Amino acid sequence: MPATDGSRAIRQLVRWYGTHKRDLPWRDINDAYFIFVSEIMLQQTQVDRVIPKFKTWVKRFPTWNALADAKTPDLLAAWAGLGYNNRALRLRDAARQVMRDGVPTDEDGWKRLPGVGTYTAAALAEFANHRYAVVIDTNVRRVAGRAFLGIVHPQPTHDSRIRRSLLTNIPRRGRHWDIPQAFMDLGASICLPMPSCATCPLKTTCLAAPKFLSGKVMRRTRTTTTEYRHAGKKHPDRIYRGRILTLIRERGPTRLSAIGPNVDTTFDAVRDNAWLETMVHRLIKDGILTMKKGGHVSLTETQTAVFARSESDERRGNLTEILRPDRSHRRIKVRLLRRGTPRNDGIQYMKTPRVTGVSSTCVAFR
Ligand code: SF4
Repeated sequence: MPATDGSRAIRQLVRWYGTHKRDLPWRDINDAYFIFVSEIMLQQTQVDRVIPKFKTWVKRFPTWNALADAKTPDLLAAWAGLGYNNRALRLRDAARQVMRDGVPTDEDGWKRLPGVGTYTAAALAEFANHRYAVVIDTNVRRVAGRAFLGIVHPQPTHDSRIRRSLLTNIPRRGRHWDIPQAFMDLGASICLPMPSCATCPLKTTCLAAPKFLSGKVMRRTRTTTTEYRHAGKKHPDRIYRGRILTLIRERGPTRLSAIGPNVDTTFDAVRDNAWLETMVHRLIKDGILTMKKGGHVSLTETQTAVFARSESDERRGNLTEILRPDRSHRRIKVRLLRRGTPRNDGIQYMKTPRVTGVSSTCVAFR
């Protein structure tokens, strides 16, 4: 593998970052809490979707302490729209641990918090503690793998080589914490899966640039996934878990035996029951579903509240307050908090399926 002028590439990158860096609300804030929240939100959600949620979240829970004391319904309501709700619960667990043990000061310390893996710990050590660490996410992998190693479509299997190249080329002095962010921004804007090398600040040093500029590199068509997919099923489990939630939200408490055929047209009771039970038990473990007497599965009260406080509610300014889900979880009592003139005392009962669209229902007061 030919050697590249790595330090020159880093200088080009840092210069470009100085004028093109993304304006993200968790950047340039010297607050480990804000950075921690952003990293957890970004784990499985796109930056554009995280930005508004992050702003709302830090207004609602501005400190470790406020988050540690947060009530589950408030927590999940603030998280709604980001997906993978158990991340919100782990965030609070982490805040409680920080209140007990203090804010971590290095990579190993962050790794001891729930929900923090290798990548997140390295990112937090760099961005929050300014401790030197090798941060490799999808964008860093793509840019560094191309620029330093000449690999046109770098994969996680290349990470050990990419790590070595980053260790060699990123200086330990100065603002080294800017460099992973610069890689990320370049990977999000120019060094995309099919890159725009002609406009890239690294085009004179990048080992992959000549390959792309020759026009001979094909678009990568094979996609890889690490999501679990049950044998013979069309979609990963994530899709079926979402369908289970939608079904129970719309039908109310549902027998386990009635769930399978309603979320998967190829469901076979003998072959697929264990798979279905595993998915349902995961949702129960995450505090989203609960098993009732008689074998009915229903939403927890918390999750019912989350559905009621939908994103569209907040967008339209029609915030509602959950007063009391009734016993069947099929109807829920809500109060209109602003906008529109409520009849009587402003309290309405509505069926749970409608609650996700509660803003329009409330405004119309049908
Ligand atoms: S020159 Fe092309 S391949 Fe290299 S870093 Fe820039 S955009 Fe990516």
